[in-house]
Amino acid sequence: MSDAVQRVSTPGVSDEVAIQIIGMHKWYGQFHVLKDINLTVRRGERIVVCGPSGSGKSTMIRCINRLEEHQQGQIIVDDIELTGNLKNIDAIRREVGMCFQHFNLFPHLTVLENCTLAPIWVRKVPKAEAEEIAMEFLNKVRIPEQAAKYPGQLSGGQQQRVAIARSLCMSPRIMLFDEPTSALDPEMIAEVLEVMVNLAETGMTMICVTHEMGFARKVADRVIFMDGGEIIEQNEPEEFFNNPQSERTQQFLSQIL
Ligand code: ADP
Ligand code: MG
Repeated sequence: MSDAVQRVSTPGVSDEVAIQIIGMHKWYGQFHVLKDINLTVRRGERIVVCGPSGSGKSTMIRCINRLEEHQQGQIIVDDIELTGNLKNIDAIRREVGMCFQHFNLFPHLTVLENCTLAPIWVRKVPKAEAEEIAMEFLNKVRIPEQAAKYPGQLSGGQQQRVAIARSLCMSPRIMLFDEPTSALDPEMIAEVLEVMVNLAETGMTMICVTHEMGFARKVADRVIFMDGGEIIEQNEPEEFFNNPQSERTQQFLSQIL
């Protein structure tokens, strides 16, 4: 196996395309969880993914940074194809930040330490500089005053904002969100969505699995509906919500809107 990052040559489009998924399939054992996924995400594009529970949303976005392995087809992120090549996987993970439903902060580290750990140990950023960058992002998510606290001392909404700040400290070019507000009490959802809206306005390429349709209408360039491991329908938000084409999409929307 080569130890160099293997770049896929796609002259002309490489600057504009952040993620390209071509004919991708995934199985969990015998279970065919993702079926012929085709998706091109332009740089700076904001995509919302929705669909019923179990439709494969998490699996699809987890494949994009190889938290799950696909078995067929191609996933290309910033010109780098996700294969078994560890250098490729590392290079892609450097580009892609991810936030989960359950914030996954380190409970024994302070907020500031959560934000500086990876920059210091993975990126070899000097501690003082890492702390300065972390404070900048904690400011952006409006919780600089919580820097010395431990995650357990914060509300869910605050913890999720720390998780977002922590991802941003690694300077990702692409952010993946997997239902970042679905574990939160209603009064905390808005504060996390506001941070995500602000991030979207910076031009970050984003894929967000969420059922927050207000967020989708406000920031999404495209809404994707998944069911049964397939992308059933996609459209710009206005068309998607007002004029859903497939019966399954219509039925899903009637349940959540
Ligand atoms: P969603 O995020 O849309 O709710 P998931 O991607 O989590 O859906 O799951 C899609 C399907 O794959 C579900 O039927 C789920 O039970 C199954 N699944 C998820 N993770 C695993 C796993 N590690 N092993 C086997 N089946 C799984
Ligand atoms: Mg999920």
